[in-house]
Amino acid sequence: MAPRPGDVVPAATSAIAADAVVIGAGPVGLFQVFELGLLDIRAHVIDALPHVGGQPVELYPDKPIYDIPGVPVCTGQGLTDALLRQSAPFAPQFHLGQTVTELHPQADGRWLLATSTGTRFLSKTVFIAAGVGAFEPRRLKLAGIEAHEGQQLRYHLGASSAYAGQDVLILGDTDSAIEAALMLSDPGAHRANSVTLIHRRDSFKAAPERVTLMRERCAAGAMRFIAGQIIGHDTQDSRLLAVHLTLPDGSEQVVPMDMLLVLQGLSPQLGPLADWGMAMERKQLVVNTETFATTAPGIFAVGDINTYPGKRKLLVCGFHECTLAAYGAAPIVHPGRPVLLQYTTSSTHLHQLLGVHPTRPTARDN
Ligand SMILES: Cc1cc2nc3c(=O)[nH]c(=O)nc-3n(C[C@H](O)[C@H](O)[C@H](O)COP(=O)(O)OP(=O)(O)OC[C@H]3O[C@@H](n4cnc5c(N)ncnc54)[C@H](O)[C@@H]3O)c2cc1C
Repeated sequence: MAPRPGDVVPAATSAIAADAVVIGAGPVGLFQVFELGLLDIRAHVIDALPHVGGQPVELYPDKPIYDIPGVPVCTGQGLTDALLRQSAPFAPQFHLGQTVTELHPQADGRWLLATSTGTRFLSKTVFIAAGVGAFEPRRLKLAGIEAHEGQQLRYHLGASSAYAGQDVLILGDTDSAIEAALMLSDPGAHRANSVTLIHRRDSFKAAPERVTLMRERCAAGAMRFIAGQIIGHDTQDSRLLAVHLTLPDGSEQVVPMDMLLVLQGLSPQLGPLADWGMAMERKQLVVNTETFATTAPGIFAVGDINTYPGKRKLLVCGFHECTLAAYGAAPIVHPGRPVLLQYTTSSTHLHQLLGVHPTRPTARDN
């Protein structure tokens, strides 16, 4: 029988023992790793996406952000790269491309987490930095097509070498769809045998300059675009051979293929989080603002996923929450050890943790 929320489920011996597990590798999850590191707590980080960065990387990688303290301007991707560099001294272990599906209390006070790919953790503390939910690709709705997922049907580009010499169909009008078409039709390494971009109409959400480049590639014969909708597929011996399209004039076209890459965008799914037994208000986890603890002992919630009086879904608010959540977790991870406030400017202990060797201050620094 499936365990119910709050049930104590015995841990499998193969579970990874951890001091802290962070659910979500968005900006707030990444900064949580840093704040935990300063308190001598190492973290595992899990994300449904195959890469880190959350909303800034998925939704606005090249757009400028102007309200990060001390950083007049940076892009969504630039912020993510900087957060990764900042947390690197604490060697976070990333488990990407997997969604946390289960969370159960243990008799010893720890939490058992399990992911969609079967990874299991036994952790003293859990930090839910799940934003608006796990980003899941918008799937192709076609009876029987799901049997090919992970083989000839893909929802993430992955390594371009997988497409070398293949007839590739790319479905979608997103930035990722156009980028994938440009990359796989580039006359460089790992070039596909043919690249066909398919979208139901000849207009795109992607950046106009990249769409122009895609049209130039089509004109040069390096790839092609077909306006149409997939309505069926042919298989033989469990292998996908072709898709059937309806075209805007109502006619049908059969397009042979080796690989089908569906990049129709992502939609956030709150998923099982709502069933984990913690108090929620309007799909957000209720926290106390002293430590950002949820109503479950040892579980904290930071960033867009939490709610409290005055909550604002801003990066700077999420970063502040990480600091206090780390202080809230320290007595659980290191019981009996005093939790001292130390400055990164002057604490030799923090310098050791960070692996830095500050030089003598100059007259200007004083
Ligand atoms: C277009 C746009 C522009 C913005 N501009 C600004 C701005 O200028 N300044 C500002 O301060 N804020 C801005 N924001 C808001 C800011 O992006 C968010 O506040 C911030 O991304 C929240 O970070 P987070 O880490 O809490 O969540 P997210 O960035 O949403 O990351 C959460 C991550 O958790 C993962 N996840 C969720 N559930 C699970 C699960 N069960 N298992 C595994 N992984 C899971 C998701 O896949 C995701 O990667 C903007 C937002 C948008 C949409």
